[in-house]
Amino acid sequence: MMDVAHKPDGVRAASCWVCGSLRTKLFRPSTIAEKMTANAVAITDANYGITAAIFRCDSCGFLQCPDVSGVLELYQDMEDPGYALTAGPRALQARKLLEILEKFRPAPARLLDVGAGIGLLLDEAEKRGFYAVGMEPSRWLAGLGQERGLRLHCGVLPHGDVVGPFDAICLIDVIEHVPDPVDLLRTIRDVMAPDGKLVMVTPDVKSAMARLMGKNWWHFRAAHIGYFDRTTLERACHAAGLKPVHASRPCWYFNAGYLWDRVMAYLPRRWRLKAPSILMRLTVPLNLYDSILFVVEPIHGSDEARSA
Ligand SMILES: [Zn+2]
Repeated sequence: MMDVAHKPDGVRAASCWVCGSLRTKLFRPSTIAEKMTANAVAITDANYGITAAIFRCDSCGFLQCPDVSGVLELYQDMEDPGYALTAGPRALQARKLLEILEKFRPAPARLLDVGAGIGLLLDEAEKRGFYAVGMEPSRWLAGLGQERGLRLHCGVLPHGDVVGPFDAICLIDVIEHVPDPVDLLRTIRDVMAPDGKLVMVTPDVKSAMARLMGKNWWHFRAAHIGYFDRTTLERACHAAGLKPVHASRPCWYFNAGYLWDRVMAYLPRRWRLKAPSILMRLTVPLNLYDSILFVVEPIHGSDEARSA
């Protein structure tokens, strides 16, 4: 089990991860009672509203948790049996994301999935004619994918075995987990083909649902250390030499029983009911319009000259 240091609130502000401004202020003190462990970054963690201290950038409005260090080590150790159980709906979700990607970059093409989990998207991509490669920091998740014969590397970019150029890259619900999102996007651009496309998805902290739910919004969780909206995400892309060519609200798919448990997590423990077994066999679409999907492409010399 890995310890992650949490400094007292306000001890360390940091320059904004998106725009570099030094004017960041405490937005919300830490609600994490104990040291973070690998369990806290599990994908199916249901401790909504529990986060490290969040700082807001006065300049661009980006929200970040600079006091969290050692996140990568937590991901390496993370095991999440709940994630494997949700494989059916997640595979459907991967299919829908690939349908969007294919409008911009159809197969055959070389595809890279960053933060690939157990490789559900890789499976779907291969079926659709892509040559699919994945990267996953969790040894446990990567191992499950490797057992199924997928090209799934354990680790993060840059990685000696993962060399571009890739025509299509997926970054689904990943960028909110990293302490230097612009650096991650630059690393991705480095392995992208000149006409490549990146599909990225992240929660939208300025969405109506996020505003309505306030501090209890389900995306406020210990594993999320950067909170984007459309403007800050676009800004991060530009800083990395990328530009969005499409923006929409992705739809997620869930096992109805899993969804039931997520809703129950909002109730006091004694009111929680076990999901009726029929729900375990149902997959339902859910679009709360509180995530952003961008399709992004590299900015080339002539584009930069135009925007300068
Ligand atoms: Zn900023």
